[in-house]
Amino acid sequence: MDNRTEPLVPGVWRIEAGTFVNAYLIARDGSSDADGLLLLDTGGPRSGPRLVRSIRMLGFDPTRIDEVLLTHWHREHAGSAARFAASSAEPEVRAGRADLPVVADGRAPGSGRGTHLGRLLQPRLPRPAPTPATALDAGEPACPGAHVIAAPGHTLGHRALWLPEHGALLAGDAVYNLWRLSIGPTSLISDLDAVPKTLAELSRLDPAVLACGHGPPVRSRAGRRLVRLADQAAARL
Ligand SMILES: [Zn+2]
Repeated sequence: MDNRTEPLVPGVWRIEAGTFVNAYLIARDGSSDADGLLLLDTGGPRSGPRLVRSIRMLGFDPTRIDEVLLTHWHREHAGSAARFAASSAEPEVRAGRADLPVVADGRAPGSGRGTHLGRLLQPRLPRPAPTPATALDAGEPACPGAHVIAAPGHTLGHRALWLPEHGALLAGDAVYNLWRLSIGPTSLISDLDAVPKTLAELSRLDPAVLACGHGPPVRSRAGRRLVRLADQAAARL
């Protein structure tokens, strides 16, 4: 299981940063590190060396990572951001504006409507080491061919990446694919009210490939399955 990587679509690789936890590497020029590399999520606090090894095994130089984008602040995704930021690569770390207080300053996360358990649990979740970070706003291109999508719900500042050329949606934890497609544990969701709208917007993209923060990518009927999940969330939440 260690150092498992797989090509997702041309120019994008899934890297297992931990057990059932994914990071994604994007080559700006689509094939090499000549124009720099973008890392989406970093795994947990101990995932850094493993990610670096995996990136080398893919034939890339990890010091070519010039940007680290975080789908959200949860520590199993943002846990090694500080380590990458302090490396010789000196990448810029970016996260959704509403998640920045947690990522940059270690402050308690904001929340909307949560479950009873979620209201107790979320302020106590371990946070990543504070990392200087800038805002990753929806609508801007993260790199050529990759669009930043606001996907709030799981956290208030959650972001996804949409690669229209490949029909690939890198959904972070807006969608889990552990045994089945789901919205993940509701106790981890910061704003239940935002989830149906986010899923409806993501499903309108009709992705051919759906890549999640947890679990393997969905390559078969991804768009239809996402529509069904959006419908279920709208009915249930
Ligand atoms: Zn999460």
